[in-house]
Amino acid sequence: MAAASAGITTICDMPDSMPLVTSAAIMKRKIQYWSERAYVDFGLHGGFVPGTDFRSLIPELWNADPSALKTFTCFSEDIWPAMHDGELLEALQIIHDVEGLAMIHAENDDMLTQNKKRLEEAGRKEFRSHLDWRPPVVEYEADRRVIFLLRTTGTRGVLVHTSLPEGVEEVFRARRAGQEVYVETTPHYLYLEDKDMEKRGPWVKCSPPLRDKDRVLKIRRLLAQGHVDTVGSSFTISQGASRGRDGQHLESGSRNAWYRDDLAPSDQWRQRGLGFFEQDRSLPL
Ligand SMILES: [Zn+2]
Repeated sequence: MAAASAGITTICDMPDSMPLVTSAAIMKRKIQYWSERAYVDFGLHGGFVPGTDFRSLIPELWNADPSALKTFTCFSEDIWPAMHDGELLEALQIIHDVEGLAMIHAENDDMLTQNKKRLEEAGRKEFRSHLDWRPPVVEYEADRRVIFLLRTTGTRGVLVHTSLPEGVEEVFRARRAGQEVYVETTPHYLYLEDKDMEKRGPWVKCSPPLRDKDRVLKIRRLLAQGHVDTVGSSFTISQGASRGRDGQHLESGSRNAWYRDDLAPSDQWRQRGLGFFEQDRSLPL
């Protein structure tokens, strides 16, 4: 309903909702749930998480017709920790074997852990700390590594919500060399900059975070030149936003609001109009 009221005719939903969409059974339930309720066309992404049996889960899940299979190279939330290289390589190989499409949120988990430790020791809690936790090197290193692993396994892939022009350029170079890899950025990386995080805090908090003005201008140029394949939103409710402005910005805090509570969004959620698009509109774009 939120999408329709905003004039959007098709949406693709992320798999990090509850329950996580990491098996064919859950994918089928989610398709059925939204088939009975959606006002617009939709696609659903599936996902793969560390510590699970990729060999049995991924082929079945791909057969259940997700638009892509997502994972994170960094910690996302307790139920979706970082996918490290060994498991990532194995999962990508399986996705290649089933001719699937991998969708990767690329940030370096080790660097994030180290930065967080340093910032916590220094007692940093102000808005800026979110930016210092996740500087460009954290994303750029993971972009390059993911592109390399996709190439090694011959897997089709998308780098999602890329904030860095450097990441877009890496994908462009890889594609020119014959690799089937794509890149997405989002409206907030095109319209907002790091100073907005310092001013508005949790309302513009996202991961990867907002970047400096030079990078914003550069990624806009790359978009104009046709080097960005898709502009998506991927913005969800930030718990930080509802928690006020008292600091504690060293947590990722992103939630999918409209597929919680075991497939049944509560009346409370609905009455408050919380959802993907409402939250987007509340942002001062
Ligand atoms: Zn993500």
